[in-house]
Order: sequence, then structure tokens, then C-alpha cells
Amino acid sequence: MATEDRLRKYRGKRDFERTREPSGRAAAAGDAPRFVVQIHDARRMHFDFRLQVDDVLKSWSVPKGPSTDPGDKQLAVPTEDHPLEYEEFEGVIPKGEYGGGTVIVWDHGTYEPLSHDRRGHPVDFEESLERGHATFRLHGSKLRGEYALTRFRGSDGDDAWLLVKKGSGHPEGHGTPDPRRARSVRTGRTLAQVAADESGP
Ligand code: MN
Repeated sequence: MATEDRLRKYRGKRDFERTREPSGRAAAAGDAPRFVVQIHDARRMHFDFRLQVDDVLKSWSVPKGPSTDPGDKQLAVPTEDHPLEYEEFEGVIPKGEYGGGTVIVWDHGTYEPLSHDRRGHPVDFEESLERGHATFRLHGSKLRGEYALTRFRGSDGDDAWLLVKKGSGHPEGHGTPDPRRARSVRTGRTLAQVAADESGP
């Protein structure tokens, strides 16, 4: 599918005259796919978890954020595909616009697709997402190791997913971060600092 079509939903929701969010470009061939986790202080605080698949970032809204504890099953609600440059977006989306609020880039890096079928043969990553179960290894500054995204039917009848850290041992790291204390991997700023910086002197 062309990037134009994939991003139709994303572009339809936004007025690029009013928001500094990106409108979209094509991927460089041959590079390892990227992932990004943003913290978004919108109407409801949430994390946005995004995996590059070809020319777009497949996206999920994760209310509690990704956990480093394999015992945590984190709800992940699918949202529209985002353009690749969104990985770098940190700033304030104007109040009244779609997703109005402050965004920081909490973590980013590359990932290795690990999806395989029942017999252990590798399968195409995008296809594994379409089938509702994908596994991957994150190489981020904060998140490292193997994770899985698994689709299920939510109680409201809509599709929802679970984001789970793989592994059976003890929890590593600190579970989920506190979004108000967490700092940008790009600039070291908190949400409050980004909001203050953009409101001007
Ligand atoms: Mn969001």
C-alpha cells in the first residue's frame, strides 16, 4: 500500500497549518526498523507505542505504558498509522486540535522482528500483526529485550491488544515509568519542562 493511502486516516484528523506534527515521508531501504515510545499528556495521560513497518509507524495507545515486568499485561489500543518522522516529535499539540497536549519521546531505537509460525518458521512481520500476534526484540535506551503484542476482543467488542515483556525470570528494571517524572530520551526534559519551554518566556 502506498504511504499516501496508509496515512489517510492520520492526515484526515490533523490541520498541518495548526500543529507542528509531521505529515509523512518514505522510509530508507535496508535500515533496521525503528520503534518509539512517546508519553502524551492529552485528555488522558497515555503512552504511544509505535513500530515501523515499511513507510509507517504502526501505533498503539498504552494507558499504563510498556512494562519491564513479564507478569504485567499492558492494554494497548490500536490507533492510526503515523508517519516515520513522528518518531522525532516532541512538543505541544495545540489545545482544541486532535490529541491536544504535550508529547515527549520517552524511548526510541531499533527492533528485530521475531515472529514465527507454530512450527517455528519465521513469518513476515506485517503479516504476523495482521494475524494478531507479533514478537520482536527492542534495542532502545530504556526498553531492551523481547516483547509480544497479541490481539484480543475487548469487552466492548472492539479489538484490543496486550503488550507483554517475554521471559520467565524476575522483573528487570522498574516496571512502568511514572509519566510525570519520566524524561525525554532526546532532550532529557519532563512533560512539564517541554510544556513550559513552548509556552515562551
Ligand atoms: Mn497519543
